[in-house]
Amino acid sequence: MSAHDPNCIFCKIAQGQIPSKRVYEDEEIYAFHDINPWAPVHFLVIPKAHIPSMAQVTGEHAALLGRMMALVPQLALQEGCNPYPQGGWRIVCNTGDEGGQEVHHLHFHVIGGPRPWKKG
Ligand code: AMP
Ligand code: ZN
Repeated sequence: MSAHDPNCIFCKIAQGQIPSKRVYEDEEIYAFHDINPWAPVHFLVIPKAHIPSMAQVTGEHAALLGRMMALVPQLALQEGCNPYPQGGWRIVCNTGDEGGQEVHHLHFHVIGGPRPWKKG
């Protein structure tokens, strides 16, 4: 699989070709605000490499996905989620058409902040 798909909007965002509101960046991972938030906090965590969805994930990706997941507590608080247990957040990973996935580049939604939320 090639590292980037030239037709993929999230590859373009990760490479800075389309503007986004950055939350976090390192060599492998990019996080940015969702353009259509459901809640006071809503950002997306993506690998910079083009992985179409969770369905393509194998053991080779375990360290990368572990790092993406392990960043969430720090980034969620940084972006305004309230502390556990009264606060917290939700991680969503829509996968495939029946899973409600619209953008086919793996992403974790991190959704939180005081309720009510628009969805969820
Ligand atoms: P999903 O349905 O899980 O594939 O979610 C895709 C998400 O990407 C949606 O919540 C969109 O609001 C978000 N999105 C689409 N385009 C952009 C963009 N250019 N910048 C930020 N978020 C985006
Ligand atoms: Zn992509």
